Amino acid sequence: MAIKTGPYVIGFRCMQCQETYQRDMTAMRCPNCGDTGILDVLFDYDALREQLPCPEVLQQRPFDVWRYRELLSIPVPAEPSTLHVGGTPLYRSQDSVKKWGLKTLYIKDEGVNPTGSLKDRASVMAVVHAKSLSQSIVACSSTGNAASSLAGQAAKMGLKTVIFVPERAPIGKLNQLLVYGSHVFKVRGDYQATYALSHEAIKTYGWYDRNAAVNPHLVEGKKTVAYEIIEQLGGDVPDWVIVSVGDGCTLAGLYKGFYDLFKLDRLTHIPKLLGVQSAGCAPLYEAWQSKQPLEATQENTLADSIAVGVPRNALKALHAIEQSTGAFITVSDDAILSAIKQLGRHEGIFAEPASSAAFAGLLKAQSTGLIAKQDRVVVIHTGNGLKDPDGARKAVGDVTCIDADFASFENTWNMKE
Ligand SMILES: *Cc1c(COP(=O)(O)O)cnc(C)c1O
Ligand SMILES: [Zn+2]
Repeated sequence: MAIKTGPYVIGFRCMQCQETYQRDMTAMRCPNCGDTGILDVLFDYDALREQLPCPEVLQQRPFDVWRYRELLSIPVPAEPSTLHVGGTPLYRSQDSVKKWGLKTLYIKDEGVNPTGSLKDRASVMAVVHAKSLSQSIVACSSTGNAASSLAGQAAKMGLKTVIFVPERAPIGKLNQLLVYGSHVFKVRGDYQATYALSHEAIKTYGWYDRNAAVNPHLVEGKKTVAYEIIEQLGGDVPDWVIVSVGDGCTLAGLYKGFYDLFKLDRLTHIPKLLGVQSAGCAPLYEAWQSKQPLEATQENTLADSIAVGVPRNALKALHAIEQSTGAFITVSDDAILSAIKQLGRHEGIFAEPASSAAFAGLLKAQSTGLIAKQDRVVVIHTGNGLKDPDGARKAVGDVTCIDADFASFENTWNMKE
């Protein structure tokens, strides 16, 4: 059987039982552990240390996820004809001492990815991998962004998509799915029920599985965001990198990216990671805080992309926080809405609630003293606010409407002044 992984992959390790598997294994999960046997991809760091081009040479390649092709877990065609994913801006906040009480703050803008979220880094791996396996249908369940991202990436590659979304998915994301031509099933139930149904359908029909935690290649796509941050900081390591957390794959990907660079002697140390959950749905925070096994929680938050009561990648997410000596933190829905407004007004960033949650996490971590003024911080803006117009409206209210005469305008204007 042909090799179906990237050239430097040596195998897989189960996050639960630690069993290792050869690189030619085709199952996406550990056969011993079943559903919870999430695999981590293992790389030949010794070979990579010698053969990976130096940063200067890498930087001559196009700035997208394929720049780091040697470090990916899937075989990458010479010219992957995908949408342009990654290579996103890292903005430095101006006057950040005055605005945020921080000397150094960067925002990594993942909202400019082709379908508007960081999920594109994972989905683009899925569609290229599915193609290399001659699969024609890719499927997933999602709170929204993974689905809309998969749908867009698949449309570009001529693949069909079957998508299961929970009833509460915001309209912007549902519209994206339909525009990209997906077969969409809105499931009467929460994300857990939606996930279970997708799992059964994928197994029954043998479709390519883009369910994030289950498919180990997706975290490997998300890790490219860490490579870019380090590249954009000229090799410097920030003190904190902050991201919101639902299933835990994004956090796990960040950690894996920094870990790779550390193993390759391209980083002095791994930055502390701060995982932000919504107070209304914080199973990972609870497990980390109490040091108890993870318990399913309610999905009670307006930040739909991180409303995940049973995180599928709990082990990798907890590992990332422990190994980076970081922390989890929770933020209220009110803080999430307030962060939408602040990011928009002071940074020109339009974030959906799950994305502004990371920024809300920064503000809370400062108020508790976890993050200090001199700390150099990177916040990841994971999803574009245009996807969730209702979320934005809750944060900023409605537009003022006036009669079509000058007096009416002036009255209102003078009131505003
Ligand atoms: C999916 C998502 C997250 C969280 O990623 P997980 O891998 O589920 O933890 C955060 N923000 C946005 C906008 C997302 O779409
Ligand atoms: Zn196992």
